[in-house]
Amino acid sequence: MIPALDQADHSHDLTQPEPTWHESLAAAIRDPQVLLQRLGLPLTLLPQTTRAAKQFSVMVPESYLQRMQPGDLNDPLLRQVLPLGDELLDVPGFIADAVDDQSARIAPGLLKKYAGRALMIVTGACAIHCRYCFRRHYPYNEEPRRLEDWQPALDALAADESIHEVLLSGGDPLIVPDRRLSDLIRSLEQIPHLQRLRIHSRLPIVLPNRVGPDLISLLTESRLTPIMVVHANHPHEIQRDCADALRTLVRSGVTTLNQSVLLRGVNDSVDLLQELSERLINLGVIPYYLHQLDRVQGAAHFEVDEAFGLSLIKQLRKRLPAYAVPRYVREEAGQPHKSPLE
Ligand SMILES: *Cc1c(COP(=O)(O)O)cnc(C)c1O
Ligand code: SF4
Repeated sequence: MIPALDQADHSHDLTQPEPTWHESLAAAIRDPQVLLQRLGLPLTLLPQTTRAAKQFSVMVPESYLQRMQPGDLNDPLLRQVLPLGDELLDVPGFIADAVDDQSARIAPGLLKKYAGRALMIVTGACAIHCRYCFRRHYPYNEEPRRLEDWQPALDALAADESIHEVLLSGGDPLIVPDRRLSDLIRSLEQIPHLQRLRIHSRLPIVLPNRVGPDLISLLTESRLTPIMVVHANHPHEIQRDCADALRTLVRSGVTTLNQSVLLRGVNDSVDLLQELSERLINLGVIPYYLHQLDRVQGAAHFEVDEAFGLSLIKQLRKRLPAYAVPRYVREEAGQPHKSPLE
């Protein structure tokens, strides 16, 4: 049973002040044992979970945990965040830099693969650790942190008049406090040929209280046209505080798109993909991409066969308006755009 979309979250104690997003982030679950205990799952899993978490640690915000079904090891949200022994298997073809980010790096923290747009790795940090993440092995320590460290990237953007859109990515760029984000956006606004600012973030989904008045002002008061690309994979993610955050973005006039990754045991079903698209479009969020999994080391058990993925999209097309069907794509190193699979 999928909880109703508009169901408000009254589960918290109304006498307590709402936590700030910084507090929610600080309170995220980082201990595998706590994650298992909170969901009433068997502690016999702990040895493999702990071993897998040594390669890529556990991180689950409370709001996200609240959307899981306690006691269900196959919960589709839990599957995205619970480390399993499968991650330690070495599978041929699954490598550390699956999308060849390193050869697209035109300045520290700046990747340019496609015409007209460049991507800034604003931070390596995230509010959640997705086990299938394609940048789980990215060498974030080598990227800029302070504003002055960004100067070479800003200079590279200023020097290339063909770039009209800057993508803030990571990691998760919205994990950066508004003050720092604002400084970065101000610097970008001074580059005359930039027209659009696109933010790729999972925070509106996993830490919805990040979408507050300050962030909205930052986005809507900029000279640059704001575009938000969020990342939800399953309809159960789009409920309660997350639905509120998406509605806020859309009603503020921020073009909001969603990208998903096709994940075995999470969303590899036409019914689920349909439900996900419907929940998104009901809130005014447009399904943008459905990504074929990048073949990153440790994520092989999430891979869905491409022919099956294609059959899902074909069925989806029969059920939904065209704008609600995401483009099924794969990222191929060296290609001038994401490669359509249909
Ligand atoms: C995926 C990606 C983009 C965005 O591609 P769109 O098709 O515009 O969404 C831009 N730059 C890099 C380096 C990317 O990996
Ligand atoms: S939020 Fe995005 S970058 Fe961060 S772990 Fe998840 S998929 Fe990776």
